[in-house]
Amino acid sequence: PAQLVWFRRDLRVRDHPALVAAAEAGEVLPAFVLDPALERAGDARTAAMLTALEALHRATDGALVVRRGKPEEVIPALVAEAGAEAVHVSGETTPFGRARDRRVERSLDVPLVATGTPYAVSPGRVRKGDGGPFRVFTPFSRAWLEHGWRAPAELPSQHRWVRRVEGEAIPDAPEVEANLAWSAEEPALERWHEFLDGPIDDYDASRDRPDLDGTSRMSIALKLGAVHPRTLLADLDRVAPKRSKAAQRSLKRYQTELAWREFYADVVFHHPRSAWHDFTDALARIPYDEPGASFVAWQEGRTGFPMVDAGMRQLRAEGWMHNRVRMLAASFLTKDLHVWWGHGAQHFLDRLADGDIASNNHGWQWTAGTGTDASPYFRVFNPVLQGQRFDPTGDYVRRWVPELRHLEGKRVHEPWKADDGYAHDYPERILDHAAERQEALDRYEAAKG
Ligand code: FAD
Repeated sequence: PAQLVWFRRDLRVRDHPALVAAAEAGEVLPAFVLDPALERAGDARTAAMLTALEALHRATDGALVVRRGKPEEVIPALVAEAGAEAVHVSGETTPFGRARDRRVERSLDVPLVATGTPYAVSPGRVRKGDGGPFRVFTPFSRAWLEHGWRAPAELPSQHRWVRRVEGEAIPDAPEVEANLAWSAEEPALERWHEFLDGPIDDYDASRDRPDLDGTSRMSIALKLGAVHPRTLLADLDRVAPKRSKAAQRSLKRYQTELAWREFYADVVFHHPRSAWHDFTDALARIPYDEPGASFVAWQEGRTGFPMVDAGMRQLRAEGWMHNRVRMLAASFLTKDLHVWWGHGAQHFLDRLADGDIASNNHGWQWTAGTGTDASPYFRVFNPVLQGQRFDPTGDYVRRWVPELRHLEGKRVHEPWKADDGYAHDYPERILDHAAERQEALDRYEAAKG
């Protein structure tokens, strides 16, 4: 009997618990639904998704059936046409995914079987001693580690793909400049193994340096489920004993970053409302300005602050931004421009290929100071010092801001100090950081009452 596997945020064939469950029960009919609701994703994310989908089509020997429509209509139709006995999925934990799956389940007369999730530990599993959810990262990560996770799941060697029904062609990906090199399963795993073979040993030091290629770039593959985090965690455990003490610290740090992803998913699972509302109620009273011309300057990377502009231009060009600069760009919007974080979060979701409601919207709130164990509201990033400290070579700014390429070394962070700083039409600063920092603090004090 055919088992329908409905792929969503799990576009891979390795370490796929739901696929394994299906393969153990019978022949596997792999399917993907082009849900019109997914069209809200920006072009970079859509292109990344279609890239991973093409790869999945090849990995299933062409058996993957793709159909456009509402899942609650497409999935029952496929089940009926193929005579499928069950529909297998990776469990969904976001508000959108859970609501959709409930609709599909109601429309089916065969079971919808959820096995695993896109996380090492399913959101909702890790709880405090009193059974409540965690609101603070560090104790969550400790409990998460203690909870542990299963070993990667292996597909039975005799599994069979079947294609009993007709589908549609996978649409062409929208033309984007974004860097989608590591979106699909095989290339993402290749990148991961290269990273694991050496660069990860310096991760603890180089992860904060946007001028270096110091991070894994796994975020798009994790977002699409082209790679499962358990695969990465198992590899970390496997190589750790052979590495130096310093390298082991880096491996640990990498594990902690994956825990952040799991933490935010857990927070959104328990508090779906927090995706678009201030998590800390007391700070919901901070007055903000409506996005205006300066918001557009921020979006376009024309604020006159080199590090912020470099980040925003990297986002436009690559569909990805370095974490350190995501924090700075978010701080600039919320604390220097006094715009509510939700506007920035929406812009990021529109542009990022790895755009993820939990990591993005809580990353924004962390920076805005309204989130979980957030950076306190009164901590305001200084855009010049951040540049000097984390892009000490200036290479990052020169890569993304051509108008400043003539400035050597760290001089690139302060064009106003160079005689020829504005020789190539780089915009003047749109605000006075010291004054706006004070303004942010005043608004915070007033809101606190
Ligand atoms: P690495 O440094 O190699 O980290 C490995 C993996 O750990 C990442 O792929 C990611 O899955 C996870 N991770 C690392 N840092 C974080 C973090 N702070 N929060 C959650 N997970 C983390 N990440 C997204 O995946 N999607 C988003 O939409 C997103 N939006 C963000 C918005 C803001 C304002 C901020 C401050 C952070 C955001 N992040 C987001 C987190 C982080 O910036 C990216 O995960 C990271 O830059 C991806 O690059 P990488 O894979 O090379 O990271």
